[in-house]
Amino acid sequence: MKFEKELWKEKLEEKLLEKFSVTLKDASNFEVYQALGETVISFIARDWYDTKQKYSQEKQVFYLSSEFLMGRALGNNLINLGIEKEIREFLEEIGIDYNKVEDEEEDAALGNGGLGRLAACFMDSLATLNLPGQGYSIRYRNGIFNQFMRDGYQVEKPETWLNYGDVWSIERPEDEVIVTFGNGSVKALPYDMPIIGYDTKNINTLRLWEAHSIVDLNLEVFNQQNYLYATQDKTLAEDISRVLYPNDSTDEGKKLRLKQQYFFVSASLQDIVKKFKKVHGREFEKFSDYVAIQLNDTHPVIGIPELMRILVDIESIKWEDAWEIVKKTFSYTNHTILAEAMEKWWVGLYQEVVPRIFQITEGIHNQLRAELANLYPNDIAKQERMSIINGNMIHMAWLAIYGSHKINGVAELHTEILKNRELKDWYELYPEKFLNKTNGITPRRWLLKSNPQLSNLITDLIGNKWITDLSELKKIEKYIDNEEVLNKILDIKTEKKKELVDYLREVQGVEVNPNSIFDVQVKRLHEYKRQLLNIFQVYDLYNQLKQNPNMDFTPVTYIFGAKAAPGYRIAKGIIRLINDVAQVINSDADVKDKLKVVFIENYRVTVAEKIFPAADISEQISTAGKEASGTGNMKFMLNGALTIGTLDGANVEIAKEAGEENEYIFGMKVEDIDALKHKGYDPRYPYNNTTGLKKVVDALIDGSLSDLGSGIYREIYSSLMEYGDQYFVLEDFENYRKTQRDINRDYKDRITWAKKMLINIANAGKFSSDRTILEYANEIWGIKESKI
Ligand SMILES: *Cc1c(COP(=O)(O)O)cnc(C)c1O
Repeated sequence: MKFEKELWKEKLEEKLLEKFSVTLKDASNFEVYQALGETVISFIARDWYDTKQKYSQEKQVFYLSSEFLMGRALGNNLINLGIEKEIREFLEEIGIDYNKVEDEEEDAALGNGGLGRLAACFMDSLATLNLPGQGYSIRYRNGIFNQFMRDGYQVEKPETWLNYGDVWSIERPEDEVIVTFGNGSVKALPYDMPIIGYDTKNINTLRLWEAHSIVDLNLEVFNQQNYLYATQDKTLAEDISRVLYPNDSTDEGKKLRLKQQYFFVSASLQDIVKKFKKVHGREFEKFSDYVAIQLNDTHPVIGIPELMRILVDIESIKWEDAWEIVKKTFSYTNHTILAEAMEKWWVGLYQEVVPRIFQITEGIHNQLRAELANLYPNDIAKQERMSIINGNMIHMAWLAIYGSHKINGVAELHTEILKNRELKDWYELYPEKFLNKTNGITPRRWLLKSNPQLSNLITDLIGNKWITDLSELKKIEKYIDNEEVLNKILDIKTEKKKELVDYLREVQGVEVNPNSIFDVQVKRLHEYKRQLLNIFQVYDLYNQLKQNPNMDFTPVTYIFGAKAAPGYRIAKGIIRLINDVAQVINSDADVKDKLKVVFIENYRVTVAEKIFPAADISEQISTAGKEASGTGNMKFMLNGALTIGTLDGANVEIAKEAGEENEYIFGMKVEDIDALKHKGYDPRYPYNNTTGLKKVVDALIDGSLSDLGSGIYREIYSSLMEYGDQYFVLEDFENYRKTQRDINRDYKDRITWAKKMLINIANAGKFSSDRTILEYANEIWGIKESKI
């Protein structure tokens, strides 16, 4: 977009006067933020409309996801429009600090972690690639909770991003629909967010549904619908879109959660069918030529029986024909193999909440059973295993696989595990349905926006094509022996570390040495991600430094950031443990200037943008086989951090792209874990036979550390010593500690280190979500670029 200063000035003044009765000179930062947002919307309005018109004629993908972890929009939108620098300068001229204006925006935090952030990166890539696609989700009034610390324990406070309005969403009452449950109906009111791609006129859409009581229903819609129960308590209706469930990788089998899922999926499918009919009438045989629907994990899988309901009950299509349409329309992404994350609904609950959908689900189940009985007449066990309804539970993953034409994992290793282990029966039945789509991240937010210094250096060296073709980064490899470039990379890292140091001083009042190694683990707190292994190593290092003060050692700052699901006791205990160890270490004069531990509060997208560019070391230490992909690992790599990691998820591909010699790979592989499990793992063995480990583990219960009487340290201790150390923390400890020592030694040779940084950056191209999205577009969705 071309920046015309006079036009912007005029528009901003107009908005400020209209909305707040102020002028640019006396407007507050918040008022300037609001006016800027509204001005952006008015300047893109025509292109947005034109994009919608254009896409309505073509095949589109609809990305159904219960989460979109968007973060802030203002800076990203201005950068993608190519006017951020101009706006910054223009505001500066009139004495307004653009950074302060940006800080007025609340994150749109409608997600828990990786899965929701992936959906957000995909939106950016779809728009940037001019691909006809739209996201659908819920407009949660309260996104992921805000985290505070009290006595080193996590305290949750409701997140309230909508309290002062949301400049980025446009209410679309003309598109409201009714969603009917067993006990009544609610109104779904859509809000559209523009998705502004980089350097393109196309504007894509994210449509978020808000639940309302039908009492304040528009009468015309009311009369068109034939539903049983006409009224319902307003607050009960609005509860549906009230709050995001704060669990990451755990299934919450609650009634309200099922209602949320059906609510947004039914609204979205009604919307999709309505739009299809507007262009193609009742030619449903063409439906899948124009509509592709991606199911982001099992949360929206209820869409499969819902589309059957719409086609069979409302559009009077024969069941068999409807089933063929459904299968050609849906595809499903599997995000995890953790048992506790496998979504299953109790039949009684499902039947109560969505009775008609239950009948249809049963119909699908019976059809599958008949096919299985035919295929495997002598293997009743297999028929049972693959049943959608089994033991009074409805298995959403099975429904997803049966009703989709493509099923993908999110990294090569993960997809192989699905094919050979978790979904083996299904892979044998439908080998043609399975494929891999390794996750990616958008280079716009995670490099161009978050690290302008490194972006500028790269552009100076190889031009700016990398912004939309990240494989271009490979070209910086020719500077591998150029000391000037290597020193610039090191200087930029130091500059970004200083920026993070300033943030930590301002927000948390802690002082950090920017010349220490920044070793960072930021991600949701989960036992499989093994923050416990990290903090054990830190505590052991502390013990060693106390004993051996003259040990050859480069100062390190261990940085953590993580939210724990509010009901996940052990995870909350580990947060307390990290803060406890931090307090012990940070207040001990003996290790001052050597070792520091910082827990960054309320980890979220906006803080992530400051953390990734400042990291020297990326901690990706999950138990092998447990992390499906990871995307934080990619953000670190792109910003020149070296990975200390297990061969898990996309770490495998990161090490392959950059070369294992440029990362710090350690620990058991999937096969090693299988072998050890087979042999029988006894955590007491590493506990007794690893120098220093006993002291660390015992600190949980011998009074060296304190959980303030909550008893949670004893539970952590038991999970290791009595319940078999399921995540092999003790088994991997020695190897991890050794690798940490290697890092500490290697960091000293700054030029050799900078070479490794450069190689990581140069080989991060594969991990652009543009690459991922093009693969989905070509191999799953069958959609093509469509520029306005
Ligand atoms: C990228 C990202 C994640 C995912 O991190 P992983 O290390 O892949 O689990 C979670 N939360 C936020 C805020 C992110 O930006």
